[in-house]
Amino acid sequence: MLTASTDIQFLKGVGEKRAELLKKKGIDTVGALLRFYPRNYLEWKNTVLISESPFDTPVCIKAKIVSEVEKVRIRQGMTLFKFFAEDESARVSVTLFNQKYLADRLNCGSTYLFYGKLGGSFLMRSMSSPEIREENFMGIEPIYSAVGNLTSKSVQRLVKTALSSGIPLNDVLPETVRERCGLCDFVSALGNIHFPISDEALTKAKKRLVFEELFVLQTGLLFLKKRKRSLSGYTVKCNTVDEFKKMLGFTLTSAQERVIGECVRDMASGRSMNRLVQGDVGSGKTAVAAALCYISASNGFQSALMAPTEILAEQHYKTVTDIMGSSGIRCMLLIGSQTKKQKEQVKADLKDGKIDVLIGTHALLTENVEFKSLGLVITDEQHRFGVEQRGALSSKGNNPHTLVMSATPIPRTLGLIIYGDLDISVIDEYPRGRQKIATYCVDSSYRNRVYNYIKKFLDEGRQAYIVCPLVEENETLDITSATEYYENLKDGDFKNYSVGLLHGKMKPKQKDEVMRDFSDGKIQLLIATTVIEVGIDVPNAVVMLIENAERFGLSQLHQLRGRIGRGKYKSSCILISDSRSDDTKKRLNVIKNSCDGFVIADEDFKLRGPGDFLGNRQHGLPDMKIADIFADRETLQLAGREAERMLEEDPTLSLKENAGIKSEIVRLYKRLNEN
Ligand code: ADP
Ligand code: MG
Repeated sequence: MLTASTDIQFLKGVGEKRAELLKKKGIDTVGALLRFYPRNYLEWKNTVLISESPFDTPVCIKAKIVSEVEKVRIRQGMTLFKFFAEDESARVSVTLFNQKYLADRLNCGSTYLFYGKLGGSFLMRSMSSPEIREENFMGIEPIYSAVGNLTSKSVQRLVKTALSSGIPLNDVLPETVRERCGLCDFVSALGNIHFPISDEALTKAKKRLVFEELFVLQTGLLFLKKRKRSLSGYTVKCNTVDEFKKMLGFTLTSAQERVIGECVRDMASGRSMNRLVQGDVGSGKTAVAAALCYISASNGFQSALMAPTEILAEQHYKTVTDIMGSSGIRCMLLIGSQTKKQKEQVKADLKDGKIDVLIGTHALLTENVEFKSLGLVITDEQHRFGVEQRGALSSKGNNPHTLVMSATPIPRTLGLIIYGDLDISVIDEYPRGRQKIATYCVDSSYRNRVYNYIKKFLDEGRQAYIVCPLVEENETLDITSATEYYENLKDGDFKNYSVGLLHGKMKPKQKDEVMRDFSDGKIQLLIATTVIEVGIDVPNAVVMLIENAERFGLSQLHQLRGRIGRGKYKSSCILISDSRSDDTKKRLNVIKNSCDGFVIADEDFKLRGPGDFLGNRQHGLPDMKIADIFADRETLQLAGREAERMLEEDPTLSLKENAGIKSEIVRLYKRLNEN
């Protein structure tokens, strides 16, 4: 008796060889095959006249074969079959490649349906390798991605076998949820996604399966979030935030105070904190981190503060020691470029508990660094971190509190799923006295004027950035190369100034050197690619010129711009773009008119979809089979609300009707659960 979890090898028509192919694609059970949805459909019902069919778009025509099928051998192993077909409006020449089995079954004088793209010209239209069906064939036919050398047709046959094998199909969605959201049941959804009986049935099936996928995802994240708050041995017993505030050279904003309060409440609860702090560039996240490190130290446990680069780690180290150097709290830095002896000393002190706050790069936790009592782990600028990696982080130490700090505002809808397993605090206020950055959009005819503008500031002792999109010249795209750009300016317009270059292909050590020279003021003008996007704090830098601004995502432009306007000087950002497209103008205007990262992120999401936020699979979410987070964003929200409701009613998912969803979640997050 087959079930959904039966090994795919035992489905009729599969066998060992095919099973191997299927398994390579992740189709290892009969159930997984049923969830291998068609990538497209052929519609055989809306036939059009040949003369009225557009070229180069898939169409279905109904035509009579009016010549014998002619066989042309063009070279070894390659045979063409050619014939003419016509309807009442026009004639078309059809070519089949190597499809002998098909060609043999075609009869001159009979009428068939042809599905394909028309080519050729109005004088003689042609169609090459169309799908061909009997004249009275009806319906919508699924097209599957090929699996190894298994064609769509073979996959189709296997799916049909699986569907008609009578395996029990349990609906993971509870009936109450289905009814509330007007969704069809699983059996008819599965039947109609593979072999739709009508357009409406297909739409319904899709809607239901998309919902299900997003519902499982979000229920899973929420479930994880609740479950992960396990008991912690590091409980904050005395809140020393007032002591900390006295040491600060400024007054915390009320947003900073609130966020510290939220974290302290977590850390005092007896369970481990698992929180994300979202705060725009310049909102003062470092002070929040420092406060929490101080409070941890006064409660007798160690903390680790990690940054993505050495230079940032050093910067944090300086900030934190400046604040609490005199308080008796022992801070230490651990980075790759220290000598072996230095590192050994730090590690030994750490193990002995002689260090309260350790600051370093993310490599910190992967190296053989042992703490005496690690109670708090803070990772800075961690927006490109996946759910799974977050799990790995907290596995170090004995359930320490974890805090992730990110400056990348994520549109709310996406935040729900990217950070669905974390509690979220938002610093939605800037320190007082911060100047708004003036932003201008110009075309390249202004470049020389902009250079002169930059020189004026350099002459006054300030510093500036110029951002170029790519390192290497690309022949097809007119992108300014940073290296070439640098060479040109260094010996040309800016030959009387000290100019530096920073790009992603430099060695970390070189990069750090350049950044150090820039923050020490030895470099006046820094030509850079987007590597300066993250966290660099040089308050003396007040102008930024961004070349080819149209090539950047809005959130990225916002991050870049966040490198200036960090000190007491008025700062300005100039975006150069020669693009005349309305879309570009719209996008650049968003940047020009807003300095609020969340507003910008929402606009970016609306204009460009989730690519910039979910790029390169770095979000760590499972692959989507059928849902599209952008196109299906309304369903995403609906499913999110339903997920919350379900977990409120049944936090442990132990009710009988929720057993299906629970096992789906376990399957989906198996690797996470093993952490
Ligand atoms: P980010 O959130 O981008 O990491 P930082 O922590 O680097 O921001 O802070 C940006 C700047 O603002 C720093 O120079 C910091 O000293 C300053 N700052 C932070 N909080 C306050 C505050 N409450 N009042 C005045 N200045 C502050
Ligand atoms: Mg920062």
